[in-house]
Amino acid sequence: MREQVDAWDIGVVGIPFDAGTSYRPGARFGPAAVRQGSRLLRPYHPELDVSPFSAVQVVDAGDIACTPFDIETAVAQIEAAADALLDAGSHLVAIGGDHTVALPLLRATARRHGPVALVHFDAHLDTWDTYFDARYTHGTPFRRAWEEGLLLPDRAAHVGTRGPLYSAADLEDDDRMRFWRVSSADVGERGVADVVASLRHRIGSAPVYVSVDIDVLDPAHAPGTGTPEAGGLTSRELLGLLRGLDGLDVVGADVVEVSPSYDHAELTAIAASHVAYDLVSLLARRLMADPAS
Ligand code: MN
Ligand code: MN
Repeated sequence: MREQVDAWDIGVVGIPFDAGTSYRPGARFGPAAVRQGSRLLRPYHPELDVSPFSAVQVVDAGDIACTPFDIETAVAQIEAAADALLDAGSHLVAIGGDHTVALPLLRATARRHGPVALVHFDAHLDTWDTYFDARYTHGTPFRRAWEEGLLLPDRAAHVGTRGPLYSAADLEDDDRMRFWRVSSADVGERGVADVVASLRHRIGSAPVYVSVDIDVLDPAHAPGTGTPEAGGLTSRELLGLLRGLDGLDVVGADVVEVSPSYDHAELTAIAASHVAYDLVSLLARRLMADPAS
């Protein structure tokens, strides 16, 4: 626990917030489910050749307390809590919560690193403008992040997108913000290694934030989520793509949208716990390569 160490490198923090959800609620229980799903994780990551909990100081920073009654107040609370954590440690892996939480996390990240590249794994674009006139929701965080100048131009990518949209203008808006899209079908046709090569080329040496909406996985792999879409990635593809980011300047990450009341046999929670473990391992390897980062 964070109280038990003086200094730490990576904080794993829960954000039990789901008031920005448009369809099935329940992601506020995600952090508890992902922690439960993490119980079988073992200390050594063979594919990345790292024992993250030995290599660097990783803490469980608990959960951020935020109001369920007012989204903008909660966003401000999450941003302040992330700022306070980053004053004490160096990097965060956040467990949502719905995808609204990525906006305050990106604000806190950009405050330290400047605008960042973004690898956004999601069935959805999350660059919509408003839902029922609401600007801060789980479908709008990256539109707001782009408007606020938190993202580096031409260095943001959606991976795993699919499913019906509201209109063709959704894609035109996304193009205008200069996001790059690799659909779920593209991943299947091109293969993980080819997509990884394109992502690495696009990001280069820029600081990069990795945001994983667990609904990027097919509902067969992650049924416990708020807005499931057929035709998604397998967990093997997602973990392969994440491991392909090794060596990039990863500065922060989240895994969001686990909603355990729709889960079966902990499928989604276990998948998300492995995603979080890979994110911690990527950050640990980054810190081992450059301890001052
Ligand atoms: Mn989504
Ligand atoms: Mn999302």
